[in-house]
Amino acid sequence: MTKQALTDLVLDASVVATLCADTPGNDLHTALERLCVQGVRLWLYTGEVHDTLTRVQTKINTTESSKSMTISDARQCLDQKLPKFQWLAALSQDMEYADDADPLAVALIRSTERLGGNAGILSGMPSRLDRGMPFMGADSVFAAEFEPRIDFIDLKIQQDRIRPTLESSIHRVLYHGRYVMGVEIENLEERLAQMAGVEHCVCVSSGTDALLMALMALEIGPGDEVITSPFTFFATAEVIALLGATPVYVDIDPQTFNIDAAKIETAITERTRAIMPVSLYGQCAEMEEINAIGQRHSVSVIEDAAQSFGATYRGQRSCALSEVACTSFFPAKPLGAYGDGGACFTRDENLALRLRQIRDHGQDRRYHHAHLGVNGRLDTMQAAVLLAKLDIFEDEINRRQVVAQRYAQQLAVLENESKLALPIVRSHNTSSWAQYTIRVQGRDELQQALTKSGIPTAIHYPVPLYRQPALAQIEANCPQSDRAADEVLSLPMHPYLSEETQALVSQTLVDVLAASLSTQNQYAGTKV
Ligand SMILES: *Cc1c(COP(=O)(O)O)cnc(C)c1O
Repeated sequence: MTKQALTDLVLDASVVATLCADTPGNDLHTALERLCVQGVRLWLYTGEVHDTLTRVQTKINTTESSKSMTISDARQCLDQKLPKFQWLAALSQDMEYADDADPLAVALIRSTERLGGNAGILSGMPSRLDRGMPFMGADSVFAAEFEPRIDFIDLKIQQDRIRPTLESSIHRVLYHGRYVMGVEIENLEERLAQMAGVEHCVCVSSGTDALLMALMALEIGPGDEVITSPFTFFATAEVIALLGATPVYVDIDPQTFNIDAAKIETAITERTRAIMPVSLYGQCAEMEEINAIGQRHSVSVIEDAAQSFGATYRGQRSCALSEVACTSFFPAKPLGAYGDGGACFTRDENLALRLRQIRDHGQDRRYHHAHLGVNGRLDTMQAAVLLAKLDIFEDEINRRQVVAQRYAQQLAVLENESKLALPIVRSHNTSSWAQYTIRVQGRDELQQALTKSGIPTAIHYPVPLYRQPALAQIEANCPQSDRAADEVLSLPMHPYLSEETQALVSQTLVDVLAASLSTQNQYAGTKV
């Protein structure tokens, strides 16, 4: 491990005692505060809590003779005198070397190793420092240099916020043992249905499987056509084709990147069975218009809400806007699990029942298979993770609004100079900001320059689906989708993007675009 790469620092009992006895403002305090600002996480090991509190108590009782400190005073002292820290869980493997002269040292090493390769243990005990890494003295911490790193999506800060709930929820599943269809699934479905504002939620194995099962429940198959957007993730049209049906592509509205509702009706034929709009980047498609078309032609409407859970459309939640809606719990989505997951939402009781059967091999009772289905269940561990995340989800959606507003302010100057176009959210919508996606000409050069400056970006999506080999349709003609595929660029976006980091991202964009102008590489006006 190099000092530069340090991401996590565990403080052992001796260091905590020193920090508690000394007044804030001393060198070690200042150094640790600096580490925190640079994004290094500080930890105290729960397995060492007794030793830590006793040492704090003893140290203060000997240095400040006027006071007599109790254990609970010592506990308070940690919160008052230490920089922001988290508790690092003790697990059973930490006891494996309990015959060591200093068993806690071994336990500390074990627990620190779980944090990953870039974690160290700060200690003031010579016997521990003699063991070498991961034990580190204060000197090496003072000397450490750090490269701030910007994440496209940062899931660590969220995890830090909910760690105690998350750990206990996961452990509860570990011990109760109902790893498939445990009680957490039922709880989660109830809460998700309530959040979306529909009667039924059926949790499934992924967003892709949610879409597949929705189509299966509607009995869509060979010979059928499903109208959708070509400017989306591959899965949207993949599931249509998998069932032997044909995806029929309708071009997008260049302002919202969602399917252009005004163009849907001309694409309807006697084979059309469903319309599958995608609520891209977190903004709902024009569901009212689309539902009206669906009704006029007696075809189903399925919202691909993989990116828009938490968004609203005319005061209603995404996933409550159509006959059936599907979302994804892929880790990077607004509501992400720690693995794959998804859900279907509907008000239709029969459809919900059908979905429940399909996700379990079409069983309507044990070992009686009324239809063909799939193994499409969400696992209980993921449900436990999602339940822990749900408690803070509304707050995270609000934080995303703040981040999006800040981008809009910081980048307004570039839009005014027609160097790029900022995302447009219709006044009847609130976005869940799964992505903050700008459009710009010369996108690839801009992305390269940003990468060089340490700003991560992504392209959602570089190729319209009718140009993908597996789904190729030479006759498809969607010029707005082609243009979007060349111009879109997603910037770092997550609820915990700090004001400073965001300012750095925006300033880098301003600088790069200014530099490119001076070398004749113009990002000409793209405002639509
Ligand atoms: C992520 C995504 C999917 C697929 O979800 P998974 O959970 O990854 O299977 C489908 N459609 C869209 C628009 C997506 O963004």
